[in-house]
Amino acid sequence: MDEALTEWFEREGLLRYRVLGDEQGHVIEEVRAPLIALGPRDEDWVWTPNPDSLHYPWMRLHEMTLDDFNNYLYRWFEEAVTHGMVRCANCGKLLIEADDLPDADTWDAILIEKELVGWLAVHFDCKKQLPKKLKGLHPFELQPHAPPLYDLAHVPMPNWPAETTQSAPTDLEN
Ligand SMILES: [Zn+2]
Repeated sequence: MDEALTEWFEREGLLRYRVLGDEQGHVIEEVRAPLIALGPRDEDWVWTPNPDSLHYPWMRLHEMTLDDFNNYLYRWFEEAVTHGMVRCANCGKLLIEADDLPDADTWDAILIEKELVGWLAVHFDCKKQLPKKLKGLHPFELQPHAPPLYDLAHVPMPNWPAETTQSAPTDLEN
């Protein structure tokens, strides 16, 4: 576990806990950090990489707000999509990266903050079905893999308004 990243997640209230008793009566607390979905299946979840270890050029982790972290992960998703690694978290279709995507292919990366905390990428048209898709998903029942690591030193400065990341969780309440 990445200590600096775990501390940052804790500061932002993004860790999830579960307490278990073992057969000897000891209490064990388990912690789960936020995850990333590379697709719609349970097996598609990976751990979240630390921006500092990917040479993200615009900000260091300790300076980041949650919005900044969302921006970083958006850049991470763009890179992963360019590498053909990401499927829509709802329909499972491979996401593509281009300046001028047809409407049916446009996608967004969003943060979900429920029992499970994580980021995923989804077509705009698939957002509505997402709450149903994610219902009953428990972070401790997933077995996340190591994420693909990309050098982000070249990524452009985040330039989209913060409302794209802020509006998304509200969409999911519906
Ligand atoms: Zn989709």
